[in-house]
Amino acid sequence: MTIPEHLNNLKGSPLSFELLPPVKGSSIDTIFSTLDQLMEFAPPYINITYHREELTYLTQNGKKVPAVVRKRPGTVGIAAAIKEKYRVDVVPHIICGGFSQHETEDALIDLDFLGIRNLLVLRGDGDKITGQFEPHHEGHTHAIDLLHQIMRMNQGDYLERYIDNPSPTHFSVGAAGYPEKHQESPNPDADLFHLKQKVDAGAEYIVTQMFFDNNVYFDFVDRCRKAGITVPIIPGLKPVAIKQHQNILPKMFGVTIPTELSKAMSRCATNSDVWQLGVEWCTAQAKELLANGAPLIHLYTMGRANNIVEIAKGVCN
Ligand code: FAD
Repeated sequence: MTIPEHLNNLKGSPLSFELLPPVKGSSIDTIFSTLDQLMEFAPPYINITYHREELTYLTQNGKKVPAVVRKRPGTVGIAAAIKEKYRVDVVPHIICGGFSQHETEDALIDLDFLGIRNLLVLRGDGDKITGQFEPHHEGHTHAIDLLHQIMRMNQGDYLERYIDNPSPTHFSVGAAGYPEKHQESPNPDADLFHLKQKVDAGAEYIVTQMFFDNNVYFDFVDRCRKAGITVPIIPGLKPVAIKQHQNILPKMFGVTIPTELSKAMSRCATNSDVWQLGVEWCTAQAKELLANGAPLIHLYTMGRANNIVEIAKGVCN
């Protein structure tokens, strides 16, 4: 089923979970043990993130040396494994960063052969050290360019020109939206303009960046509707879990921690108090969003399940 079809026929819980592939060298069981807990809530589908290589510093002989590493490979394989083991639809993310158009085409062929129909199409994060996004020299600069490539493949139009009678792929795609605008965008209107372009190019739904004040989402949905964006807009939520999130999340994702939440975090004596606060805040957000027309809640697990399980219990029970 495509994601819009799921949204129109919701069975199970109104929650989807976004998982990260295990770090390189870890067993697939690490993700299965997380999923064993989350599948109890019968999510309609599971998202799996994609990660490009990154520049980091490794310590060699006591010295820090720069190195390019790919910490989390395996998105295609893990998506297929989850689909097979849990009989649930999966939504692998597919990103521009780090991939040539030909490599992307081959990954898409693998996904099509595996019977995976849904994709979340993204540009990908910038470099962890500089914060800048550098496209592959034979790759795409923006999510919309990748979206166009996928739509062409859905028409049987591959990059390779020697193919006789090419078979069209069958992907249904979603795109990312930013209620508080994307960090690099000069203003909300410019960001909305590019979001509308992604929808006009074939994105059938939007998943939002995290936010901590539901009014930010309601206002975003209003602005999207006024701009002629009519597709479902799925709110993305992440619970705060440690004190440092007050600074890390705004810096990394360009999101605001509202005053009330920030003050409550400051009053917490320990990180386990912040964890509990995060669960309660996120559960209240999810309930209010669902009561006011949100089609589903996309929960960013960031590789941790215990707080997400508590939120799912709070929403579903
Ligand atoms: P784009 O749509 O390309 O937009 C990026 C910026 O460029 C915006 O400021 C936009 O306004 C502007 N822009 C867009 N099109 C144009 C154009 N044609 N000309 C000029 N400017 C333009 N990152 C990962 O690496 N892996 C993941 O798995 C992943 N999953 C995510 C899931 C969700 C739900 C969200 C919200 C984000 C996710 N990200 C992931 C992060 C995402 O890749 C970053 O936020 C990235 O910086 C932007 O991605 P995008 O697809 O929105 O890019």
